[in-house]
Amino acid sequence: MGTTTGLTEREAAVVGRVRTDLFIGGEYVPGAAGRVAVDDPATEETIAEVADADVADAGRALDAAVDAAPAWARTAPRERGEILRRAFELITARADELALLMTLEMGKPVAESRAEIAYAAEFFRWFSEEPVRIAGRFSVAPNGATRLLTMKQPVGPCLFITPWNFPLAMGTRKIGPAVAAGCTMVVKPATQTPLSMYALAGILTEAGLPGGVLNVVTSSRTGAVMAPLIRDPRLRKLSFTGSTEVGRRLVEQSAEQLLRVSMELGGNAPFLVFADADLDAAVDGAMLAKMRNMGEACTAANRFIVHASVADEFATRLAARMGRLVVGRGTEPGVDVGPLVDAPSRAKVGELVADAVDRGARVLVGGDPVGERGHFYAPTVLADVAPDARVLAEEIFGPVAPVTTFATDGEALALANGTEYGLVAYAFTRDLDRALAVAEGLETGMVGVNQGIVSNPAAPFGGVKHSGFGREGGPEGIEEYLETKYVGIAVPPRTP
Ligand code: NAP
Repeated sequence: MGTTTGLTEREAAVVGRVRTDLFIGGEYVPGAAGRVAVDDPATEETIAEVADADVADAGRALDAAVDAAPAWARTAPRERGEILRRAFELITARADELALLMTLEMGKPVAESRAEIAYAAEFFRWFSEEPVRIAGRFSVAPNGATRLLTMKQPVGPCLFITPWNFPLAMGTRKIGPAVAAGCTMVVKPATQTPLSMYALAGILTEAGLPGGVLNVVTSSRTGAVMAPLIRDPRLRKLSFTGSTEVGRRLVEQSAEQLLRVSMELGGNAPFLVFADADLDAAVDGAMLAKMRNMGEACTAANRFIVHASVADEFATRLAARMGRLVVGRGTEPGVDVGPLVDAPSRAKVGELVADAVDRGARVLVGGDPVGERGHFYAPTVLADVAPDARVLAEEIFGPVAPVTTFATDGEALALANGTEYGLVAYAFTRDLDRALAVAEGLETGMVGVNQGIVSNPAAPFGGVKHSGFGREGGPEGIEEYLETKYVGIAVPPRTP
């Protein structure tokens, strides 16, 4: 347990209950490189320290995953499902405490943390129902001389690297299907938000997950400590959620062992509002798509592309809603918007706004950092944003909504697709034909029609272009952790 400066008694107790040593082979062990501080982004004070792994520690975590793999792959599907189901129930029962923990390390308001915990737990419920449905196929070859048997087998030991913006859900989206499929794993949560993942490791152990199936390591030298694991021939799969920049580097590294790879990377989501849209619904959707997680979401609406005939009204209404949001420490009642995760993140948001204003954008609301302490930034709406403004090209990862306009559907689609990213897009229209045409024309892995949130454990989450490849959730989710083996069985000719 680390220092607990500035925490209330309850907060300190919640943080203090988390075991923060490396979790390897079912045991808690210290990190050879010492400890790493975890800070509260609202107060900038250290609230805990977690173990700092070196290369050898990470190697031992992979050893544990490799050792546990054969027995775990043979574990009955029903048992794997029951463990996930029990973990779902434990997370749900402890949602309040887990939500507070998440808010302390990540900053989002407690109500949003609770929503993430419910979402995270739902992946365990969904995947608890999958192990007993893993099936193969039996068929007769066209020439009649061979029987074709296909079977699904776990891919083997996996490495999961996850970001700080959804400290629990980005883990359960990978752990759920991996456990269901019979894979073992090493998980490396973000250094800024490791506490939720360590708490989850405890819950999975309580739920009956055998030692070595899930191993958790944290490190202050992530690149150097992860690279040898990625090059280790015993590793069979890498699943990464994080920035496109780091993802690209990991794909390069994974080429050496031709690893199976899933990449959930950055986004630059367009939010299209057509002239026939229900503007009330569009503004509600915009608030969700922009402000969930203070805008620190890969799915966050990054560009509001609005038909010129309704753009002023949309922007004015959005600015009124944004201006009413209460900014503050996420643990305080009534707070809608917490701090950004760190000082560089807030500085980048400020730079993007300044650049847009230099190119002629009007600030309808916000536009400034808030407070002396903590990384707060005011909810901001920008109108008349120039097409070459950086805010339209880069992932903002903050509470800033730039509004631009279009005249024709073709122009809207061209603007929406004019980015290297392709994770999600949102479209608001009351015309079904238009909605379908736009959904078909968008170069993204996901589309929200008349809704500002698409995440759903029963749906395949993932992107195209520089937003990555692979899908998490839905029936597709477990396929990422299964290999298909085909067995050809010769059958001697038989006389009828
Ligand atoms: P990040 O800097 O790429 O970090 C993500 C994870 O990668 C962290 O655990 C980080 O560890 C680790 N990492 C950093 N450098 C590494 C290296 N050289 N080798 C191996 N691992 C390395 O991203 P972030 O700032 O945490 O997260 C924000 C990004 O994630 C945004 O771009 C967002 O769009 C994306 N995201 C995508 C999805 C999706 O599903 N598509 C979901 C959520 C977030 P440290 O913490 O130790 O640096």
